Amino acid sequence: MRIDLHTHSDRSDGTDSPTELVENAARAGLDVVALTDHDATVGWDEAQAAADRVGVRLVKGLEISTQLQGKSVHLLGYEVDPTHGPLLAELQRVLDGRDNRLPLILERLGTLGIELTVEDVARWSGNAAASGRPHVADALVEKGVVANRDEAFDRLLKPGRPAYVDRYAAPLHEAVRLVRDAGGVAVVAHPWSRGSDRVMTPDAIAELAGLGLAGLEVDHNDHDEDQRARLRALAADLDLAVTGSSDYHGTGKIGFPLGCHTTDPEQAERLLPGITS
Ligand code: AMP
Ligand code: FE
Ligand code: FE
Ligand code: ZN
Repeated sequence: MRIDLHTHSDRSDGTDSPTELVENAARAGLDVVALTDHDATVGWDEAQAAADRVGVRLVKGLEISTQLQGKSVHLLGYEVDPTHGPLLAELQRVLDGRDNRLPLILERLGTLGIELTVEDVARWSGNAAASGRPHVADALVEKGVVANRDEAFDRLLKPGRPAYVDRYAAPLHEAVRLVRDAGGVAVVAHPWSRGSDRVMTPDAIAELAGLGLAGLEVDHNDHDEDQRARLRALAADLDLAVTGSSDYHGTGKIGFPLGCHTTDPEQAERLLPGITS
């Protein structure tokens, strides 16, 4: 049984519609796929209809943009109540932060002599809940400024680069509480990617486990073998489930195909009872 618990559609910064994503999941031989768009649940209904049609099991999830001590950390929430008021309010704050940041990024690019308009970006974020840096990157590719999203981040958009602008992110502890309050299951996505190991120490992860965190995403392209071994040991110590997933973004992320990492069925069952039956 092949289970991929982290993917994105064009409702955030993936390039497949929710329907295409689920069809591609079936084609990739997945039995279970979780749709986990950034800060949004708007793709769920379309994905469910496609899943019913092609016979793939859909897990309804999202990936919340959070921060711990100012460092970005992503939190996966599975099967939350999408109408839970406090959760919705916090997600809206993140989405508004992303949209409100866009003109500031474009201003920075302008001072670098790169002319990009809100409309240029909107062509790439048309189906998305908000316009994020990946959509800016797509517009930069279209203009021929960079070759792909990765180059856009490396040269311009990531922290420390000239067009980087910060935005609101939910406090991590608060986000874990909200996922739990909304009846969902919380798993930290790629806990040690992009230098977040500085804040996601074993003690910090233990504290989150005390708040009801259920698992750690261990098998992910952003982690090397040594990190995976250490995260696995930590999860065992804290009795947390471990997951593996692709973090698929369609053509938006090179080298992250559907099912490139999968979750052991026993571990998936710990998080989502009945999912493998
Ligand atoms: P935003 O939330 O709008 O700031 O954009 C964050 C998203 O951009 C993340 O969820 C990733 O999908 C993508 N991203 C972040 N950093 C990088 C990077 N260094 N290289 C490529 N993609 C990145
Ligand atoms: Fe993303
Ligand atoms: Fe992420
Ligand atoms: Zn992701």
